[in-house]
Amino acid sequence: MSSLQYYEAYKLGILIPWTPRRENYMSGRHLNKADRGGLILDAKPEIYWNVGEIDFKSLYPMLMYRYNISGETINCECCRDDGVKIPELGYSICRRWRGVVPRAIELPLEKRLQYKKLCREAANPYLRCVYGRRADALKWILVTAFGYLGFKKAKFGSREAHLSVCALARDTLLKTIKIVEESGFKVVHGLIDSLWIVKEDAVDEDYVKLVGIIEDRLKLPISYEGRYKWIIFLKSKINPFKPVNNRYFGALFNDTLKYRGIEARRRDTPLIVKEMQLQMLEKLSKADTLRELKEKALECLELYREYVKMIVLGGASIEDLIIRRSLSRHTGEYVNRLLHATAARKLESLGYMMEPGQSVRYLVTGGRWVSATPPQLYRMGEYSTREYLKMLERSAKTILEPIIGGEKISSITLKII
Ligand SMILES: [Zn+2]
Repeated sequence: MSSLQYYEAYKLGILIPWTPRRENYMSGRHLNKADRGGLILDAKPEIYWNVGEIDFKSLYPMLMYRYNISGETINCECCRDDGVKIPELGYSICRRWRGVVPRAIELPLEKRLQYKKLCREAANPYLRCVYGRRADALKWILVTAFGYLGFKKAKFGSREAHLSVCALARDTLLKTIKIVEESGFKVVHGLIDSLWIVKEDAVDEDYVKLVGIIEDRLKLPISYEGRYKWIIFLKSKINPFKPVNNRYFGALFNDTLKYRGIEARRRDTPLIVKEMQLQMLEKLSKADTLRELKEKALECLELYREYVKMIVLGGASIEDLIIRRSLSRHTGEYVNRLLHATAARKLESLGYMMEPGQSVRYLVTGGRWVSATPPQLYRMGEYSTREYLKMLERSAKTILEPIIGGEKISSITLKII
């Protein structure tokens, strides 16, 4: 991204500053108001029916491009009085100069749209795959463009520019919510650049029409992701009071499942836990009504019982139980007794070189004191039944608790142990 910016600057005959722009002084109160990140509406953790999902395409880079956001265009000298105003913050954007950052963004932005179009139109599956991957790669470049805007050492970015994009994004979502409500729909959940919208009896065409209205009014591209038969939003696990809520699962009308932030998505979840959750979701996805959903959830209890038995009776293989986690530092630098660090130390004692960034594989072992053992040192049946049962129970509750409550799950665990 920076080389694209330098290229644009070079073409314009601008000298590239050796040191980045000096940061402007900002009062604590102003910073607090400005630095709020993306808009997050918190959905009540319940089951929602017939929900449509819409996503703004590349929202942040799109806003940088459309609103001419660049380090040198925010609060410029030439447009003090007539610059375009940023909502909430009151900063002004230059009307007379096209910023280096939006100039540099234009190329990847346009290329991405074209690759997406080519991908949709390609008849050859190989080409479709190639175009899709190129579009994906460009997406990451664009995401970086936004992150880089607020980076201290970026030569054409600034803190104000970064905050301006965040403010514009929030404003975009608020405007969208207003349009949605004016059109007789209701927003049940919102997250940075996505909204989940509901209207009883609305069909796909109604949602597509709504998307058309929003695109027309806001002049930003939106994709309609589809309509959920049902969707469940979960509370944030790390801190239930912190509204970072990107945990949900649901079944779409086109018979696909979508899930984010649950155990099955995590790399450090053992295969056995992942499989159980996915089988549960698969079962639930067949439900079309609340009654069916509850029935399927009760069937899932049977599934849970089978997995618990497998752990207790030793029917799980090593591969089923392995957990993967990356080392973020050298093993000697870990102060807390973290399991993956323990496993890495054991590997080092076997003569392996362990470096930060490397992935460690281990099984949870030990009796009263939990420990970790790499597969190379693992002896059959040594795993900690208690720890794996905890993982199973937690993951079963993630899926089933919102539908039938958690008590039935706990009582199964207790009975079998
Ligand atoms: Zn200006």
